[in-house]
Amino acid sequence: MKTVRDYIRTIPDFPHEGILFRDVTTLFADPRGLRLAVDQLLHPYAGAPIDKVVGLEARGFILGGAIAHQLGKGFVPIRKKGKLPGPTIGESYTLEYGEASVEIHNDAIQPGEKILLVDDLLATGGTAEAGIKLIERLGGEILGCAFIIDLPDLGGRDKLVEMGMNIHSLCT
Ligand code: 5GP
Repeated sequence: MKTVRDYIRTIPDFPHEGILFRDVTTLFADPRGLRLAVDQLLHPYAGAPIDKVVGLEARGFILGGAIAHQLGKGFVPIRKKGKLPGPTIGESYTLEYGEASVEIHNDAIQPGEKILLVDDLLATGGTAEAGIKLIERLGGEILGCAFIIDLPDLGGRDKLVEMGMNIHSLCT
């Protein structure tokens, strides 16, 4: 029986020489793989009082949308700077491969709402940290951060744990 890990493809030298890119499109493309990933990401939060699922662009949208649908909750995107049409707040951060900014609509989360944050992969934690800051600036309470892949050697897990986050990942 294949596990989530078995559906993930590794592409060498993408997007730069020396980088081993973990490609989850092969996981998403397989009906059993996609369902397995969504079910396993959700598992620890069964019965948790989640109000909204927040996904990080872009693969967090695919997972977050499926998870929100399964939970019967709404989905909120955190997007790269300049992509959201309404009034936003933003956070800048250092990415594994450079600098970036992400934004959220300033009315997407109401104070006190309980949030599940979702992305495909946790590396340095810069992207997730920016997302956490945006959610918390809007008054959201993060119940968990769920990732398919955690690369703990890059420090993201430690960074998020220091921020008081509960982290769930399917493979390292
Ligand atoms: P971090 O900010 O934690 O350093 O990097 C995580 C972000 O970069 C995530 O949004 C993730 O989608 C993307 N990312 C970085 N490296 C990889 C990789 O090897 N595979 C995939 N699928 N995403 C990556």
